[in-house]
Amino acid sequence: MPPFIAPPGSLSPISPEKNSVKMAFKKPCLDCGKLSYESRCELHRRRVEQLRDIKRAEKKKAYYNTDYRKRAKLVRDTAIVCHICGDGARLNDPWQADHLEPGNPLSPLAAAHRSCNAARGNKPLGN
Ligand SMILES: [Zn+2]
Ligand SMILES: [Zn+2]
Repeated sequence: MPPFIAPPGSLSPISPEKNSVKMAFKKPCLDCGKLSYESRCELHRRRVEQLRDIKRAEKKKAYYNTDYRKRAKLVRDTAIVCHICGDGARLNDPWQADHLEPGNPLSPLAAAHRSCNAARGNKPLGN
């Protein structure tokens, strides 16, 4: 009876294939077919992210175009005092609808003199 000779590569209890199971397989990019570990190559992944950003910006723009304009007009039309300086209406210093949280399109609006709003810029309240 000849001694059993293991074929080369089968001595290790864990085969290289089993070792690499946790590693993701490369997949072809959905756009160009280039192999990468994601569903798209780096270039096209970045493009998808850019498109997502553009869509987000468009949503924000749409918001500003409709509801925001109505709210801003209402704030200006009903303004009594400036929320920054506390004064009433001034000649040659029209009301503006100011964001209480600068940079946040959903922030509540309050009336402010144009000059006060400009002086405040994008600084948060109290600064
Ligand atoms: Zn690609
Ligand atoms: Zn003011």
